[in-house]
Amino acid sequence: MAQTLLKVAGLKVAYGGIQAVKGTDFEVREGELVSLIGSNGAGKTTTMKAITGSLPLAGGDIEFLGKSIKGQGPWDLVRQGLVMVPEGRGVFTRMSITENLLMGAYIRRDKAGVTSDVERVFTIFPRLRERKDQLAGTMSGAEQQMLAMGRALMSRPKLLLLDEPSMGLSPIMVDKVFEVVRDVYAQGVTILLVEQNASRALALADRGYVMESGLISMQGSGKNLLADPKVRAAYLGE
Ligand code: ATP
Repeated sequence: MAQTLLKVAGLKVAYGGIQAVKGTDFEVREGELVSLIGSNGAGKTTTMKAITGSLPLAGGDIEFLGKSIKGQGPWDLVRQGLVMVPEGRGVFTRMSITENLLMGAYIRRDKAGVTSDVERVFTIFPRLRERKDQLAGTMSGAEQQMLAMGRALMSRPKLLLLDEPSMGLSPIMVDKVFEVVRDVYAQGVTILLVEQNASRALALADRGYVMESGLISMQGSGKNLLADPKVRAAYLGE
């Protein structure tokens, strides 16, 4: 079986006295695309923020490549290959596309490798090449999402966490963004995808987890979850 990249065990996260994540367990193995779905407020974003070190743990542990990463900050984790594309993208709006991509490679010293990776990103996202000198802030939401993913790829992640990449996009752009997620996965990048768009996220996933009120309530292959009557009733509006 493939190596476990990420293991979340008994994770608890609280905001003041309120527990948002109440003891969740899940894992992501090398080469997988795993989707975490659930309704608004279920605790998905909170889980992602705890994994990437921007929220403290109230309990449990998180292991990356077999070692606890509890207490480590986002920058340490990027260095180890754990990179998140946050909800809302967070591109540098007053920098060009190319400058944004280079920011993603700030931890790297191999100039030639960085230059060839910019080319690789432009091959995955031809739209970014067309606009490489344009300021990121002038691009559409979907283009900014592509740029945020491209920038994350520039650090050569072992695991890419995507938080709601389809949020706020028009239906056509949602299609485009899911295509792009599939392409990035096809390039061999392991992905943990958090989405409210359950049907799309499960259709792409090797495995999925359903989160409800801070706990994992169901898990299985993407295909089985997608066919499950409870999932269909609760998350696919049937
Ligand atoms: P969404 O898709 O809306 O982002 P989610 O599943 O990602 O939903 P979270 O954003 O993780 O859910 O929120 C989980 C719970 O924690 C919710 O009840 C939310 O109101 C609460 N919460 C989130 N952020 C904060 C905060 N900064 N302070 C207090 N409570 C918060």
